[in-house]
Amino acid sequence: MPRVFVITGPSGVGKGTLIKLLRERVPELELSVSATTRDPRPGEHDGVDYHFLSDEEFERRVAAGEFVEHAAYSGRRYGTLRSDLERRTSAGHPVVLEIELQGARQVRRTLPEAVQIFIAPPSGDALRTRLIGRGTEPPEQVESRLHVAEDELKAEHEFAHRVVNDRLEDAVERLVALVRAELS
Ligand code: 5GP
Repeated sequence: MPRVFVITGPSGVGKGTLIKLLRERVPELELSVSATTRDPRPGEHDGVDYHFLSDEEFERRVAAGEFVEHAAYSGRRYGTLRSDLERRTSAGHPVVLEIELQGARQVRRTLPEAVQIFIAPPSGDALRTRLIGRGTEPPEQVESRLHVAEDELKAEHEFAHRVVNDRLEDAVERLVALVRAELS
């Protein structure tokens, strides 16, 4: 089976940007499109950024065993669809899952061969500044995400690989090197 990479880290740490740059440098790597019950942000498209589902549809799919992992995060649900992941791996592509901590822990049990990578911020302040600067969440969501981040940061030691997102270009270099080493 092709390699599966799990990339975790608190909201605002820059996972999305890092993964975008990583995939430009490692083009065979595909990103699994998750399902979520949160609303699309401006510019996000169904089936591209996420599969946007109603609460009922998400629950139906949980009950049908359609998720590799799923979790509640900041009042919404998120999960990796087995169909999406398997379609990519069975086509021979290595896949990256961009997921939060609870999901990463589930994948550690169900797919122990997956490579788990934690993206850490240079400091807690950097996280706050980035989340506020991004402007994608209302203030109460920013606070809720920073609250979750406190626990997520404590779990850093659970991960075999850690990349600190200090200077973006340095962090991308480290991530590319790590992924290439696992793929070779
Ligand atoms: P956002 O709302 O900012 O897109 O995502 C919120 C959090 O949910 C992020 O930490 C993101 O990595 C995580 N997330 C996205 N997709 C999934 C998924 O399929 N499963 C889990 N467990 N977390 C996800």
